[in-house]
Amino acid sequence: MNFRKHIPVLTVLVTMLCVVCLPCAAKAADYKPAVAAHRGASGYLPEHTLEAKAMAYAMGADYIEQDVVFTKDNVLVVLHDHTLETTTDVEAKFPGRHRDDGSYYAIDFTLSEIKSLLVTERFDAKTGEAVFAGRFPKGFGIDFRVPTLEEEIILIQGLNKATGKNTGLYVEVKEPEFHEREGKPIMEAVIELLSRYGYNEEDANAILQIFDFDAVKKSRALGWKAPLAMLVDMDGQNLVDDKDIHKWLLTEEGVKEVSRYASIYAPWFSHLAVPSEDGKSWTTAPCLKWARDAGMKVHTWTHRTDRLAGGFASEEAMFDAIFKEMKLDGLFSDFPDRPVEYLNKNGLR
Ligand code: CA
Repeated sequence: MNFRKHIPVLTVLVTMLCVVCLPCAAKAADYKPAVAAHRGASGYLPEHTLEAKAMAYAMGADYIEQDVVFTKDNVLVVLHDHTLETTTDVEAKFPGRHRDDGSYYAIDFTLSEIKSLLVTERFDAKTGEAVFAGRFPKGFGIDFRVPTLEEEIILIQGLNKATGKNTGLYVEVKEPEFHEREGKPIMEAVIELLSRYGYNEEDANAILQIFDFDAVKKSRALGWKAPLAMLVDMDGQNLVDDKDIHKWLLTEEGVKEVSRYASIYAPWFSHLAVPSEDGKSWTTAPCLKWARDAGMKVHTWTHRTDRLAGGFASEEAMFDAIFKEMKLDGLFSDFPDRPVEYLNKNGLR
C-alpha cells in the first residue's frame, strides 16, 4: 500500500472522524450522573436520621434526600411516612394516640412530642421484624431522633462550608393533598423554607420531588424555579387513589404533559428497565425516550445492594444498565457508596 498516495484520503477521513466524534466525545465527557442518597445512607443507618445523612455526605453523594411531613404545630420534619409507627417507639410512648385506622399520624403530634421519640431501623408494625434483616440492628438503644427539615439544611450547608463541596438537597413533599385537607398547606411551607435558605434559584443545588402531579403543577404556580422531579409509580403512592394518573404519566401524552412543568422525569426503576416474566432479563421502556425527547432529565429509584431490581442478577449488571446502556441522569440509592465507587471506576465522576 502506498501510504503517500493515500495521505490526502487519510487526512480527509481522520478529519471527518474528528468532526463526527468530537461532539460524541464531548457528550460522553459531559455525562456525569448524579447519586442521590435515598433517606441518607439508609442501607447502613436508620433512615432519615442526621447520622445517616452525615454518612451519605461523607460517601460522596451528590444529593441527600429529605421526605417531608408536617407536625401538629406546623413544623416540617423529615420522615418517609406520614405515620410514626414503623420507624419510632411511638406506640410505647403515646399509647392510644392513633387514629381509627390504627396509625399514629405525625400531623397529630407536636414537634416536642416527635422529638421525644427514638428512631430505629424500619420495621413491620404488625410483626415487629426489621424490613431489611441485614441492616443496622433494630432497637431503641441509641439516641437517634427525627430531624426537622431546617436542621437538616443547616447540617448540609455546614458540611458544605467545612468541606468546600456543594452537596445538594433532594426534597420530597409527602402527601400534599392530605396535608391540604388537614388545613396544612405543605407545598407553600416547603417552598418558603427552601427559598429562605437560598435554594429557589435555577442554578441552586436543590431538587423538589413529588408523586402528586397536581402538586408538581402547583409548585411552579407557587414560584418554584429550581429543578423539579415528577415521581412516577404505577402502583400509586398517595393516600388518594392515583393509580390511573400514574398509568397515564407513563404514556407518551402523559410524559409530554409532565415536561410542561417538571425538569426531571423520575419513574420507579422497573418502569424504565422492565423485567421479563421469568425475571432473568429486562427491556427499556419507551417512556425513557419520550422523556428525553421532551427535554427532561431522567432519574430513577431505588438501588439497594441487598434487594436488586427484577431482571438483574448482579449489582454490576444493574449499574451497567443504568449508567452505560440507558445513561440515566440520576439514581437514588440506599447504599450511595456503591454507585459512587462504580462511577469513579468507570470515569463517570
Ligand atoms: Ca422519597
